[in-house]
Amino acid sequence: MPNRLTRDDLTRARLRLLQMHFEAGVGHIGGNLSALDLLMTIHHELMQEGDAFVLSKGHSAGALYITLWALGRLAEDDLKTFHRDDTLLAAHPPPAGLADVLFATGSLGHGLPLSCGLALSRRLRGEAGRVWCLMSDGEWNEGSNWEALIFARQQGLGNLTVIVDLNGLQGFGTTAEVADLRPLATKLRDFGWDVEEVDGHDVAAVVAAARRDSAGPRAILASTTKGRGVSFMEGKVEWHYLPLTPELYEQAVREVRAAADTPSATAG
Ligand SMILES: [Mg+2]
Repeated sequence: MPNRLTRDDLTRARLRLLQMHFEAGVGHIGGNLSALDLLMTIHHELMQEGDAFVLSKGHSAGALYITLWALGRLAEDDLKTFHRDDTLLAAHPPPAGLADVLFATGSLGHGLPLSCGLALSRRLRGEAGRVWCLMSDGEWNEGSNWEALIFARQQGLGNLTVIVDLNGLQGFGTTAEVADLRPLATKLRDFGWDVEEVDGHDVAAVVAAARRDSAGPRAILASTTKGRGVSFMEGKVEWHYLPLTPELYEQAVREVRAAADTPSATAG
């Protein structure tokens, strides 16, 4: 079992994520910061030996690599290769080379169907272990997800948990502006799924929701903030894509450090 997650762990991960993206000069930082607490919670608190994980929102690969680094499965030298030529740590999860990455993702709407297949194959083989899938909210635009909802319910995939990074934004606007699916919880329940709604930056709440008994497939709708922890990024659609300038990087680091030094600040 991994060690329990602390507030210091989350701060260290957030700072290292900012550094890695700044040094590589790449964007997708906003969605990485909304997903980071969830990825850390899934891997440090929830996953057991033999479980499988699929990052459906592949553009948050950076947050996954930082999570694996925090677990000791990637080294500091690995992170320095992020987004460089010949790296294993590409901007989206690679098709091979990392034991913790089962599928290349990034083209959206595929992680949930793949996770359904993994969950069903485990059951058919009599294998223990849960399948965890982290999705974005924008990728619910993809019709493949709705087919997967039907399939998972029909197959009674009680060994599948989907967590949705519900930050309310996607590449070209708010999720409500692009294709309004609110209330998503109602729609998923109508498909026969067990649905929990939590604050995605509250580690204890996510853990409690994931551990509640559920007979069928479970979805945890985790409300998050795009750009979480950095004032000029929070809730701003442009930080889906923008890279950091040196000045903004320094400001972001100052803010994350200051929040960590504030006793009343919440974890993450
Ligand atoms: Mg989103």
